[in-house]
Amino acid sequence: MSAAGFRIEIRGVVQGVGFRPWVYRLAHEKGVSGRVSNDSRGVTIEAFGSNEALDDFLRGLRASPPPAARIRELECRAIPPEGGAREFVIVESREAEGLQVSIPPDLATCDDCRREIADPTDRRYRYAFTNCTNCGPRFTIALHVPYDRPTTTMARFPMCEDCRREYEDPRDRRFHAQPVACPACGPRLSAVGPSGEPLDWPDPIAGAARALRAGMIVAVKGLGGFHLAVDATSPEAVARLRRRKHREEKPLAVMVADLAAAERLADLTPLEREWLTSAERPIVLARRRADTNLAPEIAPGNPLVGLILPYTPLHHLLLADTDRPLVMTSGNLSDEPIATTNDEALAKLAEVADVFLLHDRDIASRCDDSVVREIAGGPTLLRRSRGWAPGAVEVAFEFEPPVLACGGHLKNTFCIGTGRSAYLGPHIGDLETLDTVTAFEASVERLEEFLEVRPTLIAHDLHPLYATTEYARSREGRKIAVQHHHAHVVSAMAEHGLTGPVLGVAYDGTGYGTDGTSWGGEILLAGFTGFRRMATFRPVGLPGGDVAVRQVWRVALAALEDAFDGEPPLSRLDLFTKTDPREVALVQRLIRERVHVPLARGVGRWFDAFGALGLARRESRYEGQVALEWNLAADPAETRAYPWTVDRSRPQPEIDLRPALREAVADLLAGRGPAGIAARFHETLAEATAKMIEESLALVGDAPVVLTGGCFQNALLVERTLARLGTRVPVHLHRRVPPGDGGLALGQAVIASAVARTGGF
Ligand code: ZN
Ligand code: ZN
Ligand code: FE
Repeated sequence: MSAAGFRIEIRGVVQGVGFRPWVYRLAHEKGVSGRVSNDSRGVTIEAFGSNEALDDFLRGLRASPPPAARIRELECRAIPPEGGAREFVIVESREAEGLQVSIPPDLATCDDCRREIADPTDRRYRYAFTNCTNCGPRFTIALHVPYDRPTTTMARFPMCEDCRREYEDPRDRRFHAQPVACPACGPRLSAVGPSGEPLDWPDPIAGAARALRAGMIVAVKGLGGFHLAVDATSPEAVARLRRRKHREEKPLAVMVADLAAAERLADLTPLEREWLTSAERPIVLARRRADTNLAPEIAPGNPLVGLILPYTPLHHLLLADTDRPLVMTSGNLSDEPIATTNDEALAKLAEVADVFLLHDRDIASRCDDSVVREIAGGPTLLRRSRGWAPGAVEVAFEFEPPVLACGGHLKNTFCIGTGRSAYLGPHIGDLETLDTVTAFEASVERLEEFLEVRPTLIAHDLHPLYATTEYARSREGRKIAVQHHHAHVVSAMAEHGLTGPVLGVAYDGTGYGTDGTSWGGEILLAGFTGFRRMATFRPVGLPGGDVAVRQVWRVALAALEDAFDGEPPLSRLDLFTKTDPREVALVQRLIRERVHVPLARGVGRWFDAFGALGLARRESRYEGQVALEWNLAADPAETRAYPWTVDRSRPQPEIDLRPALREAVADLLAGRGPAGIAARFHETLAEATAKMIEESLALVGDAPVVLTGGCFQNALLVERTLARLGTRVPVHLHRRVPPGDGGLALGQAVIASAVARTGGF
């Protein structure tokens, strides 16, 4: 038996996911000696043993890593065998220089823990806080670094002897699982009514399940905040939830017990199955089946349904006891952050929930569910939060000095760049209320503490009035204002390791332009420190200003006035026959006299205009509703574009959609339905985009293309644009950060850092 040695370096998501104990167990199993340690770049193993044992060990490393680990690179080199090594040990991290482990994201309950809670002979049978090194809370319970039990909200639960034995035994699945607990020593559930009165239920989960089956609304304290749960098969119950929550039309997510139950509700692709069962466990938007028993009120008029599988033992038990799909929507009133403490939930949700399923483990950091949709054969994160936050995106350079990027105004997330890592915080939401702004500030400060940095380089949006800009001003140090669409483009570049120049297509609702007007249909030749605007869209008026973003009929009217030279056939269009003529006349006067009609170039506004007309919809009840419905209305079998032109007399070529609008109106007047018109609208955008990209590349030379901005959450637009572009130049989509404003902070961080390093701007 000839002894040999290997040094194995592993990169990827390998820290905070139970990787070292797993390596330890594998080494013992295979009779290998040596050591495993964390370092700034991943995990390093030195392994010694017979060739046979080492082969076995290596095979095991590749074959069955812990569920939340992602091995990106495994490098193996022969090293001289160590005669003295008999044991295999875990070397405690010596906090190697530059080590930035932060706090790992939360992980969905693993299969082993699931088996235990379902096993009547196990001591954790039906225990709602079961976890191990492969699963359970991390970020949401961490108060300080290093991530260790005394610095989490588990500190107040001293481990019993059994738990301590598991925690200290390297061969145990719970070795160093910080939140380890059991019914004897860990957190407990309770159920109370809306005024906080205790409900005397021996088993709170069984009681909550009974309430749900009876159609009641139950506030459930989850991992990163409260959910409001209700029977998803009961139209009355869902309608009541919507009424009480003041959330009239926004789609609601549905939690189902397992993959089989998900298959009954939606036609799933392999990728959707993979994401539904992943350790990150996001909400997955999938195509709803026609024959389900889901209440139609869940997502009115929407062919998609947001599905999610249980990710805590509490969810598993609740779903099993309820035995039906449950609506699981964030526990807040519209526009507020989700509640995280028992008191907050009782104070804010007393009018909404009939029953509160509480527990005594505190949530340290708020963290909403993430949302994923498959676009063009890959995952697109629409919201990157629980399961990912506060994990980093690795970049190809050093953030030196560290930078804080404050993100955008809507769907805010922020980013801290340090070392080669861009850490993205959890989803904060729309910074429109004081509560949300307070949540933003608290979240920034917590992540700074986790990373042990207090950046003095602060990136923020160019918009002078955003809450994030105000926050940036309040900070000490150098501030760098970043143009919104430049940030979108660089966000996509950073994700794909591109250093520029790239041709970035940034389409969204709005973003403050360098000329003080609203941009959002931008094709930019961009690098980290600057950009050149290659093309944009002819602007459309927003009569009355921001009110037109909700009252989309106003945008439609402005677009029609422009396209028909002040003589649009309003009396023959459904949208306007159902609008008060005095209101129409008033807005028409605003447009004609140009009184408070700011111009906007956002492609999102063109979606609003066409969608309002085509669907005869007067307003969006939530951000982007009409645009989304216009997308979902399109018949993918229709592939003809409408005519469009380019105005080359402007400082940048302007894509002019007026010819398309005139023909869409002709289609409407001819009685053609919205499905074909919506499809042709998408096709027009795809064609115009592809043409302008080709034209720009011919001018400046070939460069990779990135598609970014909220409009590229639209699968049809992405797929049509890709089809029109062909394969001559590489085209990159967002895969790891959202294309919308939730991904903005990454671009801001990279730009500010590059500017600071090179002295640009
Ligand atoms: Zn587990
Ligand atoms: Zn215990
Ligand atoms: Fe944007």
